[in-house]
Amino acid sequence: MRYYSTNGNAPMATLQEAVTQGLASDKGLFMPERIVPMSKDFYEKIEDMSFQEIAFHVAMAFFGEDIPETDLKDIVYDTLQFDCPVVKVEDSIYSLELFHGPTLAFKDVGARFMARMLGYFRKQSGAKDLINVLVATSGDTGSAVANGFLGVEGIHVYVLYPKGKVSNIQESQFTTLGQNITAIEVDGVFDDCQALVKSAFMDKELNAHMTLTSANSINVARFLPQSFYYFYAYAQMKKFGKAGNLVFCVPSGNFGNICSALFGKKMGLPVKRFIAANNANDIFFKFLQTGKYEPKASVQTLANAMDVGDPSNFARIFDLYHKSHAGICADIKGATYSDTQIAETMAQCYKDTGYVLDPHGACGYRALKEGLQEHETGLFCETAHPAKFQSTVEAIIKDNVEIPARLAAFMKGTKQSVQLPKTFAAFKAYLMQE
Ligand SMILES: *Cc1c(COP(=O)(O)O)cnc(C)c1O
Repeated sequence: MRYYSTNGNAPMATLQEAVTQGLASDKGLFMPERIVPMSKDFYEKIEDMSFQEIAFHVAMAFFGEDIPETDLKDIVYDTLQFDCPVVKVEDSIYSLELFHGPTLAFKDVGARFMARMLGYFRKQSGAKDLINVLVATSGDTGSAVANGFLGVEGIHVYVLYPKGKVSNIQESQFTTLGQNITAIEVDGVFDDCQALVKSAFMDKELNAHMTLTSANSINVARFLPQSFYYFYAYAQMKKFGKAGNLVFCVPSGNFGNICSALFGKKMGLPVKRFIAANNANDIFFKFLQTGKYEPKASVQTLANAMDVGDPSNFARIFDLYHKSHAGICADIKGATYSDTQIAETMAQCYKDTGYVLDPHGACGYRALKEGLQEHETGLFCETAHPAKFQSTVEAIIKDNVEIPARLAAFMKGTKQSVQLPKTFAAFKAYLMQE
């Protein structure tokens, strides 16, 4: 399978090139040239298959031409060592819990899958050079990427994060790992970290010194595997006898997660429609209303993993629908909520149903409450475990949130980090001596 750029000005890439380059040379996003529908037989038997089996079949449709079946199976089975259950919250509304991975975030699947695929290609090519992954994080991405790449041979990860601006739980998830993971504490804000990573990719001397790659969510090996969740969710709903008129509601920031679900629909997954739930960062919501895409600076909200003012995967969605605003509107509705509404929703849902929402999931739940029509069944993605936002959630629901053992274990580890100022000169000097 070959991959084209959404900007249309770069040569077609192989899977290996798309995964190692991340972004196309014309700054566009890679898209597979074909989307292979799943067979009728697959959909008929889907409810009898495990999460791993379903994911393997879907992965074959994406990557089967480029990676031998047994290797691909290893990658998929190694990635999916946990469940993503569908939980009933109330009549017609279900939570698709995407937070049962190693760092309790839905990004765990994409991060681990990408780590394994990159490791596979490196081994295949017989390269002896170390691959260095740079990732800037405001919290969640760093932990998912660090844990996904932990222990993968031939790859070293540098996680750059703003000093004092990441919660203790999040910080512990990437500063206590050791091995092939280095945490770099930058005296600055998230944007400084991101700027350092961007400058590093553009620095000729540094790139001659070491092989650098990024692990952000635009990478095809990170975003496509997220579609596994939606096929498995459908299988579970079919088992419940509730698979008709399904509406998937996805709390969205960079729109990678919902984009993978849209790929699912193009592969024949029987979904009636989608809702993209935003916090106060409403660029996509506005686009649906006006047909104009107008990025702006992000604003801080309670659902901080969705504080995105220029969603990177918008280009993919636009491309997937042949740049048709009407086409997008026919499949996707939008919603946007303020922090006050998010908090109100979390408190109300807990009071009415006993279900604990995190601030991201709360946007999804509310959009279903407000937007679900008769005869529809809604699934919203719970994208993070509420314990990751413990103090916020506890203050809102006025009850305790238990910290899962897996999270508590991270917090017992010893923090190791490299302290750097926010200047590129300092960052470069540090990498040059590595
Ligand atoms: C990353 C993230 C999102 C947003 O996902 P996108 O794919 O960027 O739209 C939502 N919720 C949580 C908890 C996240 O970590």
